[in-house]
Amino acid sequence: MVLISCKNCKKVYEKDDYTPFKCDRCNHKVRRRVENSLQISLALTICAMLLYIPAMIYPMMVVTQLGVNQESTIIEGIISFLEYKSYFIAGVIFVASVAIPIVKLFALFFIFLSLRVNVKIENKTKILLYKCIEAIGKWSMIDIYVVALMASIVQLDELFNIKGGVAATSFALMVIITIFAANRFDTRIIWDEQRDDE
Ligand SMILES: [Zn+2]
Repeated sequence: MVLISCKNCKKVYEKDDYTPFKCDRCNHKVRRRVENSLQISLALTICAMLLYIPAMIYPMMVVTQLGVNQESTIIEGIISFLEYKSYFIAGVIFVASVAIPIVKLFALFFIFLSLRVNVKIENKTKILLYKCIEAIGKWSMIDIYVVALMASIVQLDELFNIKGGVAATSFALMVIITIFAANRFDTRIIWDEQRDDE
């Protein structure tokens, strides 16, 4: 007899072996560990890290005013908010679009790496780090909301036009891929005493 819990709703089952089955409470497929969880999450994290680069160096917004195009990256946007003395908005954008995504990606990368390489770090710390990443995840889309909101407000005027730039697409993709990387990760792996490669 073995005990196995549903990753989705946490219901615990008593079974003869670890053969996958469907959870009768939430219909989630119950497996001992999510297949290739670590490899896929790590690959997605690296992918999101690469997307962070175009999100920072390419224009986030293209503002057309009287036929003249003006492009600005996230950093340039923050600087212009600082110039207008809007410190709060500048702070929010910096934390949400620059700091949180990279901290999150490095934290995930660190957790995944620590499961492969021998690092002197307690499992409880790893779980805590993972919980923090999950908690701050939903706030990193703020920047996309700002662009979308401004575009919808200003679009009414024909002389003045705001569009999302290349960085907006990369940024949105990066945020979504990071969410997948975090969700696809089976935290139970952290507690495995002897990892037999999933
Ligand atoms: Zn379930």
